[in-house]
Order: sequence, then C-alpha cells, then structure tokens
Amino acid sequence: MSDNKLKSIELPSIITVRDLAKEIEASPIEIIKVLMANGVMANINQQIDFDTAAVVANELGFEATLEKLEAAEDQNAGEIPLWRQLIADEDDDALVDRAPVVTILGHVDHGKTTLLDAVRHTDVAGGEAGGITQHIGAYQVMHNNRKITFLDTPGHAAFTAMRARGAQGADIVVLVVAVNDGVMPQTREAIAHAKAAQVPVVVALNKIDTADANIDLVKKQLADNGLVPDDWDGDTIMVPVSAKKKIGIEDLLEAILLVAESTDIKANPKGKVMGTVIEAKIDKAKGIMTTLLVQNGTLNMGDIVLAGLASGRIRAMFDYRGKRILKAGPSTPVQIMGLSDVPEAGDIFQTRKSEKEARQIVADRKGKLKQKAAVAPKVSLEELFERFQTGEVQELRLIIKADVQGSLQPIIDSLNDLNKGDIKVNILHAETGNITESDVMLATASKAIVVGFNVTSDSAARRLAEKEGISIRIYNIIYRLLEDIEKALKGMLEPEYREVQLGTAEILALFHINKIGNVAGCRVLKGEIRRNAKVRLLRDGKAIFNGELASLKHEQDDVREVRQGFECGMSFKSFSDEQVGDIIECYTLERFGG
Ligand code: GDP
Repeated sequence: MSDNKLKSIELPSIITVRDLAKEIEASPIEIIKVLMANGVMANINQQIDFDTAAVVANELGFEATLEKLEAAEDQNAGEIPLWRQLIADEDDDALVDRAPVVTILGHVDHGKTTLLDAVRHTDVAGGEAGGITQHIGAYQVMHNNRKITFLDTPGHAAFTAMRARGAQGADIVVLVVAVNDGVMPQTREAIAHAKAAQVPVVVALNKIDTADANIDLVKKQLADNGLVPDDWDGDTIMVPVSAKKKIGIEDLLEAILLVAESTDIKANPKGKVMGTVIEAKIDKAKGIMTTLLVQNGTLNMGDIVLAGLASGRIRAMFDYRGKRILKAGPSTPVQIMGLSDVPEAGDIFQTRKSEKEARQIVADRKGKLKQKAAVAPKVSLEELFERFQTGEVQELRLIIKADVQGSLQPIIDSLNDLNKGDIKVNILHAETGNITESDVMLATASKAIVVGFNVTSDSAARRLAEKEGISIRIYNIIYRLLEDIEKALKGMLEPEYREVQLGTAEILALFHINKIGNVAGCRVLKGEIRRNAKVRLLRDGKAIFNGELASLKHEQDDVREVRQGFECGMSFKSFSDEQVGDIIECYTLERFGG
C-alpha cells in the first residue's frame, strides 16, 4: 500500500522546468511530456507556477505543497515571526546556539544612543579593537567568550516597523529608563511592544550617576507597569548603569546572557537561509547597501537574495567593522552589495536558486500588492473576531485611551473580567490622553484595535489608521464600550457555520400558476438544486433574496433534487419578485469542524 503513496515535496510559487526536474529527480523531458499532455507547451528554462508544477509532480508520484515560508509570507505573517516558525520546524538535532539579538528601547533622552556607544566601546576594550567606524544598523560584541548582536537602530520606530511586518528580529529587549526621570509614555509603549511580541525585557536603569537618581522609585513605577524587579521576587532583571560614565555595562551584558540562557536561542546554520532586512541605503559610490540579519542558515558570497520587493546576487559582503567576509551564519549582521532595489527595513529575506526566479517572484509580489492596495486591509473589531475564529488570532488585543485615570482603571478592570475560557482580552497598552499616531502604530504592529473613552484622536492618528486599516472606536459611556466588546466576544463563542455550495441555476421563464403563485422555470447550470437546501437569488451579482424553496418540480412532479443540465420549476418561500436572468445559488450550512 505504501508503495502507491505519494511522496510529499515543498515547491516554490514559481519554478523552472529544469529545477522542478531536479526537485523530483525526474528528467526534464519527462516533465515536458506531462506538461504537453496537460496542454502546456514549455521548454526546459520555462517557469511554471505552483499549481501547474503540483499537477506535474502529482503525475510523477509526488504530493506538492507550497513552500511553507512562502505560504506564510503570502498570508502576511501570523502571530509568530516567520523566521521563528522556520526554526521551530527545523530538526532539533540540527539546531545550535546562536548569539542573542538585542534591541534597545526607551523614552527619548533616557540614553539609548549613549548606551549603544558604551556597549560598542566595551568590545574595543575587550581586545577586539579594530576601529569600529561602520554604522550598518547592527553590531556584535563579545562578553565572556559569547557573542551578543545589538540592533543599532534606537527608537521603536524601526522595531515597530519590523514587528508590523511580522518579522520582529530581536530575542531580548533592553529597556532603558533614566532613574532621574522615571517611567515615561515611551517607556510604557516599549513595555507594551515587548509584551505584544513576547520578547523578554532586561531593564537598564540608566543615569545612576545623576544627583537626582531615585532607583527605588523607578523600580516601583516599573513594577506598576508589569515589570517586577527580580530582587523584589519578580522576573525582570534590572541593572543599574551609567551609559555616560560606562558604569555597569559588563553587568548589563551578563544579564543579557543570563536571560538568553533561559530562552531557547537557536538556529540551524545548515538550514534554509532566512533573515530580516535591518536597513538599506543608497551609497553614491557603492550603490545599494543593505544590512541583513541572518536568522537561520548561512548566507554566502554569491548567493541570490530575495528581500521584499528587491532581489540580486551578493557581489560583496561586509561585517559590522566593514571587513569583507564570505559567509555569515545565524545572528550575524552583514552588509551586502548587489540588490537591484532598496528593500524596506523589516522585510524578510531568503535565498533563491536563480536570479530569474527571484525576479519573477518580485514581479509576482508587486502584482499582488497592487491587488491588495485596491482592498485596504482592515483591522476592525469584526475582522479581528473573524481571525480569532479561524485560529489566526488567539486573543482580542486592545489599546485603551481614556480621559482620566479615574475612568481608565474601571474600564481595564471590567475588560479583564470579561476574560473567560479560551477567549482572552489582552490590553496591550492603557493610558490617559488622546489617541495619537504611536497608539495606531502599536495597534498596527500588534493587530490590535484602539478603544478611546472620552478622548479624541489627532489627525496624524486618523491618517495612519486610515492607511493601515486600523479601527479606532471612541465611546463616551463606559457600559456601551463594555457592551460592544462583550457582545462581540459572545459572538465569538457562537458556533460558526460555513456555506457549502451545491449548485446554481438560471431563471429562463416565469409562469403564474393559480393557487401556487409565481413559478420560475429554470435550468440547472452547475451541480444540483435540492428542495430542502437554502437558496440565494442573485441579480447583477447582488443577492436580492436569501431563504428557502417553497417547491421544486421537474416537469409535473415534486422532486427532491434536480441536477446539472435539467430544467425545473421553483417557487420561493415569502418571495415572488424573481425575474428572468436571475441566478439561483443553492447551498447548505455546515458547522465548522463538525
Ligand atoms: P536617547 O534619546 O535615548 O538616545 O538618549 P541619548 O543617548 O541621546 O542621551 C540623552 C542625554 O542623556 C545625552 O545628553 C547624554 O549625554 C545623557 N546621558 C546618557 N546616559 C547618561 C548617563 O548615564 N548619565 C548622565 N548623567 N547622562 C547621560
């Protein structure tokens, strides 16, 4: 029995006849023959799409599925970043430790840039001197013989951009909080980002050298925001530092490694190459310079890279010191030359077999983007519930803004009370004040909706919300707000039905029969029409009636079903406005999973 079983194989969205032959270990001639038999004339260098390749593969004993990565990328990434999915799918034995990737977040002026400089400096002091002059958006340092990769793009705009693309690259967030200033709005936002991305946080309590430093007060504020210091029995390590005076930097690196140890930070250096675009710019002399963070596999000089809407062969590759290198394994940032276009920070990159294939995929993506642009994506309450039901989203994420603390807390408490069973309301961020652009940014990145109470949204927020299709809902009565969320949550719990199409028919003529009323003379175009199923009447593509049949006749007889090609007479329950040319869709409702 198992001899007849189809072997499974993953294929890309576009493949040449030659590459397909290689993948399924057949001769290209065989493939061309099968294609011809299916009415496709192709030569060996011709590219065929996945659907065609799957048919060919099937005839030659393979069951093809679209490459997981591409399938996931097509769906615009779910909750888990693509590269994490890839690594999760790798063979456990193939996985090895890699350097943790760290990003620094925090309020403006709390010392992010200074800290990044101080960390770089320890590396030089540690004997790795070599004049770090390059800024490529990421660098690595050694501590206790272990490497740590720092993303050198402070400010959470970049982090958000990466998350919004589903490509969040960091394993650990270092949250910088100045102890003479305390927890500020952007500190809270950063906490919300880290929480939403499920990335562990190490706090750098910065500026301990200042006269008005108050470490305990700041720890208390952090604890109030969900980060409880480990010396207060919490699980967040907080390291007092002075970025300016370079105090405590080694301790911070130590803490990062400690957190890294307790988190699975692994990759397969021999696996499929994948990573994230950190930044890209045009250099007058060198052309397009792109910094990539390799997250799985090993990138080699000469590889063909596909990154978002850019592609090309790597003509030169440099490390963060500007030294030429030939290969780069997991967690290594590299700057490459050779891409045809400038990709966006946060784009995912992969390698491809040929430049032609990569270019074709780019063209394909551009086409899809155009189509998508026509239908703006929506993160509305309704949409989120739909995604929740399909299992795409596991929780309802909210960003709450209210006029005063006095109304914020009861809202949060009541929303938390709604958490029941499988359904979760996750409040990513709650604060007083009007709805701003950064709230919408966070919502975009986290697939959340913004709920306001007695506040307004500024125009930048509205513009961005419009562009990203984020729903902003503003209320001025608390119970209305709660009612809306609760109603929707209950809606989620109701069993879901899906339509199963049975067939279609067209109305060819109308008759009036005494006692019965209007009867539509129809021909079944496709499938079958069933007496007991549901019907929908379409006119010019729009549904004008949705209900049930009152009668179904074939010639003079009442029948239970009429099949494709046959004529029949129908009348509808509580509807008599049918017209010649209307299309009747016949369907049943089936319960999901049941
Ligand atoms: P960023 O906006 O978070 O990147 O903050 P910067 O790194 O630009 O720092 C803002 C200001 O705080 C600068 O004037 C720094 O010199 C100063 N600063 C940074 N770290 C420290 C520190 O540890 N102690 C003191 N006293 N000042 C610091």
